[in-house]
Amino acid sequence: MSTRRTLIAGNWKMNKNATESVELVNDIIHHWKKVHNVDVVICPPFTSLHACKEVIDQSAEIFLGAQNMHEAASGAYTGEISAAMLKDLWCKYVILGHSERRENCHETDAIVNKKAKVAVAANLNAIICVGETLQERESGKMEKVVTTQVKASCDDFTEDDWERTVIAYEPVWAIGTGKTASPEQAQEVHALIRNTLREITSEKIATKVQILYGGSVKPANSAELLGQNDIDGALVGGASLDAESFVEIVKNACHEESST
Ligand code: PEP
Repeated sequence: MSTRRTLIAGNWKMNKNATESVELVNDIIHHWKKVHNVDVVICPPFTSLHACKEVIDQSAEIFLGAQNMHEAASGAYTGEISAAMLKDLWCKYVILGHSERRENCHETDAIVNKKAKVAVAANLNAIICVGETLQERESGKMEKVVTTQVKASCDDFTEDDWERTVIAYEPVWAIGTGKTASPEQAQEVHALIRNTLREITSEKIATKVQILYGGSVKPANSAELLGQNDIDGALVGGASLDAESFVEIVKNACHEESST
């Protein structure tokens, strides 16, 4: 069995204002079960980070993450948020290169790479998303697309960069569609990603880096997905907006469990 800790991250996307976010965090805490060897992160919108921090501070078992950041330290970047601003709000993680940002905001691997380096330098953990579209999978390009994204998004990483890097494999065709990759399909790509890491880093780093699966993860499919050798956690979108479902996914990730 792997020694990697499991990570469950909830990506709330552009949902929940600050008041609703606090309600959702309280609801998560209400349903909470004590977990072992699992780290849990919620990634609300920027506008809810401060309010959520206040609530999470009292529980100390849930970490805070952001959904994006800008690569510059400060300056004339209207509407953007820096790594230092996220740190100031006690964020521990930041999601980078989500497929919605790659598609809607034209984020390239080179931009994701810059952001990841800046995030790590600010002591944030970067959750770097990669994944193929349905068309790419159906035309036999999955391997090339995923390995290219991993190599380019993590280009020139130092050992310190890898220490704070998490990869999330999110097949675009499975995000928000209700279609999940089968555990075997997901494991196949996770193994491919880990082999790519072996190629570009070292056995030690490749063995250590957590690789999350994302794409319509729900309580009903999470245990089987999380039971695969190279699946070290989940990036959860829709189901993270329902406290009971999210906590159920967290429980399914836990090998031993005791209630609070
Ligand atoms: C996501 O947005 O990262 C995601 C995986 O969404 P969903 O779980 O809704 O497919």
